[in-house]
Amino acid sequence: MEKLKHVVEQARAAFNTGKTRPLAFRIQQLKALKKMVQEKEKEFTAALKADLNKSQYNSFSYELMIVLGEIELMLEKLPEWASPQDVEKTILTLTDKTYIHREPLGLVLIIGAWNYPFVLIMQPLIGAIAAGNAVVVKPSEVSEHTAKVFEELLPQYIDKDLYPVVNGGVPETTELLKQRFDHIFYTGNSFVGKIVMEAASKHLTPVTLELGGKSPCYIDEDCNLDVACRRITWGKYMNCGQTCIAPDYILCDQSIQKDVVEIIKKTLKEFYGENVKNSPDYERIVNKRHFKRIMGLLEGQKIAYGGEADESACFIAPTILTDVSPEARVMQEEIFGPILPIITVKSIDEAIQFINQREKPLALYVFSNNNKAIKKVIAETSSGGVTANDVIMHFSIPCLPFGGVGNSGMGSYHGRHSFENFSHRRSCLIRALKMEAVNSIRYPPNSQKKLDWAKFFVLKRFSMWKFGLVALALLGIVAAVVIKINIDCFHWGQRLADLRKLSRIKSGCAFLRARFRRCHNRTWC
Ligand code: NAD
Repeated sequence: MEKLKHVVEQARAAFNTGKTRPLAFRIQQLKALKKMVQEKEKEFTAALKADLNKSQYNSFSYELMIVLGEIELMLEKLPEWASPQDVEKTILTLTDKTYIHREPLGLVLIIGAWNYPFVLIMQPLIGAIAAGNAVVVKPSEVSEHTAKVFEELLPQYIDKDLYPVVNGGVPETTELLKQRFDHIFYTGNSFVGKIVMEAASKHLTPVTLELGGKSPCYIDEDCNLDVACRRITWGKYMNCGQTCIAPDYILCDQSIQKDVVEIIKKTLKEFYGENVKNSPDYERIVNKRHFKRIMGLLEGQKIAYGGEADESACFIAPTILTDVSPEARVMQEEIFGPILPIITVKSIDEAIQFINQREKPLALYVFSNNNKAIKKVIAETSSGGVTANDVIMHFSIPCLPFGGVGNSGMGSYHGRHSFENFSHRRSCLIRALKMEAVNSIRYPPNSQKKLDWAKFFVLKRFSMWKFGLVALALLGIVAAVVIKINIDCFHWGQRLADLRKLSRIKSGCAFLRARFRRCHNRTWC
């Protein structure tokens, strides 16, 4: 345990050298991460196969490709996201500089879960590195093969003092949580989430908790059932149901329950063949403990399809339960396995009520042809994220913050949201040492006159564009006056010139007259 303390101290010391501050360093580390994923694809896919029986295609599509996409996005956008962000000024700071400066939080602890063991470590790690933090990486001990590959490979590619990997189980995580961090990012179940938050509170460390829960899926009668059930089948049974945002259960009218079962059965055969156990695309339950837990949820239930299992291989077939009671055990905890209960409801309002009587879920799904029904479900419920007429897909959009609410978590990440999650947004105001006349209204001695000015400056809402508009109008008036004066001057100038010309002509005439008179006189003389 002393060793763990030393690892944390070393990572903090490495952060304190300031080497993560330059953007160039972070970009170089992100490029090294990308190189690792590209060069060690085989090692990671082999580990994922050993941990969860993930096929090479599934490993690449749902783990490695997501990470590569996230690194690419970060490399492209980081210079823009990390640059100072100018903000609107007030009338009192018109001539000053006001901006938000993103700075690293310091030393971050990332604790991963086992169901997507590669992506759940790498995706937050990318955000933490991009934001300039040092990171202690703690992969899940449950997915031990992937954890080992991380321990071996990460130090070969990225700075080993700044980004150490700690492997181990509950005792190691417990010891790590006693140390001081500047942020803790935890993915896993809500029970441990509370332990993490309690430990973090000792040092007032902020936390991001990526938790789980029961994500409902409501199917409206007015819906293309074929498409809906196909998409639900994909999202429910991928990774053998061990996906945090998998639809946990279906809510639908009694009249369509039978059709829903039939279409899902048909789709399962299409996806995995007649013998799902032989399909290379169907994963396994991660270990015997979870196998037993999931099988226990089937007790006393009406199995409409599936239910076959093989403990020695941690195999549970895709299973559908019908007419499930809301009081059944399978409805009391997150299933996190390939079991899909269907609960019948009489109306959309009953479905909404059902959802709202439970903890706020991580994801919520609604299928309907009717946009009003979709908007109603979104408006009258709460969840970490929503996808309508599909499942899982909101996860794939980097502009959408990914995270839970209430019991399903706090904080969010992905793309820019990861960078923001691991950054401190520092408020910066740079003033000039002038304009003391305006500033003097806040200095004592106080007076009613000063207070009136303060009210004018502080309480009047001068938004900058309004101020700009007024300034533009004033400028316009000044410009118009100047032009008018110029035109008038031009006219007056011309008249003056005419007068001068006239006077010159007049004086010329007088001169000529005088000459003439002189000549005339001479002639006459
Ligand atoms: P897990 O067993 O791998 O635990 C997660 C981490 O917590 C591990 O690193 C482990 O060492 C640590 N841990 C476990 N018990 C601990 C304790 N008593 N004290 C301190 N640390 C401890 O993963 P899990 O919890 O079984 O993961 C499944 C859950 O995670 C599900 O609820 C799922 O919905 C959720 N999940 C959420 C997301 C998300 O992005 N929101 C993603 C994946 C999984």
